[in-house]
Amino acid sequence: MTAPTPRPRPEWEQDAACGGHAHPEWWFPASPNDPAIDATIVCIGCKVRRDCGLDAVLSDKRFGVRAGYRTDKTRSRRELRRYLNLPEPEGKS
Ligand code: SF4
Repeated sequence: MTAPTPRPRPEWEQDAACGGHAHPEWWFPASPNDPAIDATIVCIGCKVRRDCGLDAVLSDKRFGVRAGYRTDKTRSRRELRRYLNLPEPEGKS
């Protein structure tokens, strides 16, 4: 059996404002009620926000903050799709 080949990191990640940030925990809120304001503020100013958000949608991320949205919350995932001008998933109108 061979080890899985690691996926190459997308080029846009080099410009991620969260990359190497002093508080990476901001992107992983411990409480379901934590609005993750600090991470959201950084994401809003991040120059790869759209790439990051699109990657989160396409890979169906459900953990942590991406592009300023909590991917573990259904409502926040819908808001992310609206931010990206993507239609609602089928059966979710
Ligand atoms: S938008 Fe936010 S989560 Fe995405 S790369 Fe930028 S800082 Fe990181």
